[in-house]
Amino acid sequence: MKVLKFGGTSVGSAQRMKDVTKLILDGEQKIVVLSAMSGTTNSLVEISDYLYKKNIDGALEVINTLEKKYVAVVKELYTTANYKEIGSQLIKEHFSLLRSLANDTKIFTLFEEKTVLAQGELMSTALVNNYLCEAGIKSELLPALEFMKTDKNAEPDMSYIKEHIAIQLKEKAEAEIYITQGFICRNHYGEIDNLQRGGSDYTASIIGAAINAEEIQIWTDIDGMHNNDPRFVEDTRPVATLHFEEAAELAYFGAKILHPTCILPAKQANIPVRLLNTMDPTARGTLISTESEHNKIEAVAAKDGITAIKIKSGRMLLAYGFMRKVFEIFEHYQTAIDMITTSEVGVSVSIDNTKHLDEILNDLRKFGTVTVDKDMVIICVVGEMHYENIGFQAKVVGALKDISIRMISYGGSNYNISFLIKAEDKKRALNALSEKIFR
Ligand code: ADP
Ligand code: ASP
Ligand code: MG
Repeated sequence: MKVLKFGGTSVGSAQRMKDVTKLILDGEQKIVVLSAMSGTTNSLVEISDYLYKKNIDGALEVINTLEKKYVAVVKELYTTANYKEIGSQLIKEHFSLLRSLANDTKIFTLFEEKTVLAQGELMSTALVNNYLCEAGIKSELLPALEFMKTDKNAEPDMSYIKEHIAIQLKEKAEAEIYITQGFICRNHYGEIDNLQRGGSDYTASIIGAAINAEEIQIWTDIDGMHNNDPRFVEDTRPVATLHFEEAAELAYFGAKILHPTCILPAKQANIPVRLLNTMDPTARGTLISTESEHNKIEAVAAKDGITAIKIKSGRMLLAYGFMRKVFEIFEHYQTAIDMITTSEVGVSVSIDNTKHLDEILNDLRKFGTVTVDKDMVIICVVGEMHYENIGFQAKVVGALKDISIRMISYGGSNYNISFLIKAEDKKRALNALSEKIFR
């Protein structure tokens, strides 16, 4: 069975929902993962932000505007009076839940926020499932909150997921189409939670691994992984094939088309991932698997919001165990390190989670002088770049000859070279790399 995920733009209007159903009806049984309609999760975040600040009027205004959009979708999506009524009722329920949370006088907590954020995927899936049912198609909802679960480290609980999705599939074995919610899950305590923004891609990959799918397809608004970020560079082109490792690097280092960790479950289960364009379904897209072109620089991505920390200690080389002590501090504050470079007198690392920055800096000062650079960006150049294949490192570094570079990292794998630069230089760096490598 295949797993197909459609992103927010792909289900962004009644017409788009109708178009999606044309892409999924080929007689083959499949699981379809849907995001919330585009813009919805942003509105839900806005509502939560107002409620944290106790601004009820602000929240209600966003709720009202959002509801109008859904009322119009229901009107356009269904043809029969019966399904128009079912649709209206559904929207009413979700929006009264939002209003009741807004009007609740209790303190607005993370738990309520997660409930608010879940409404987008709950609505889009119910709307599309009902549309298919109205057309007489055997479509069934697979409620993600009944099988998608994370463990105490917020990692997918694969054995739970496998067991519980299998129960659902068995109960609804007759269905042609299974529709399920991306993004949402339950946490270790059974509370509603989510897989972070953009998490529907991750849902699709987790489900693919859980059912040992034949293929995972990520349908979005662009014809595959491009060789550079199309939001900052003109003339980018889709990459036909990528190795799992290459795609994982690109996703982790900022290629927004994929959730940062969504390649991992597919890679572990060796299930090919295909990136396809809902607006241009016959375009070839990108195939991610164990195959890729050898000795080729494939693509460039950029990850924003990076902070660089340098710890300078005159005695570093003499003091074995120094690195361990440094890493332990980051581990203690559950802060992942993205990049690392060393010299005789010190070490530089970069992080993207600055929640515990002050505590980390305080602890690091025990080991030497600490300096911090904020507003940095990691530029990641990805491809199969074995070190014996002479020249490509020079080509990549050469492309950035006019950019001031704070850190360079190469050799951690055969698949990337990363640079840490100032945020203000990001666009120039991405364009310089496209110019010198791809054009
Ligand atoms: P969806 O809502 O379908 O999940 P996203 O907006 O999350 O879609 O991801 C698709 C977008 O990712 C594209 O419209 C594009 O602007 C952006 N993007 C960033 N980098 C890349 C890249 N290297 N290749 C393709 N798209 C990219
Ligand atoms: N709706 C969620 C978001 O906007 C998840 C997703 O679209 O993948 O982040
Ligand atoms: Mg996305």
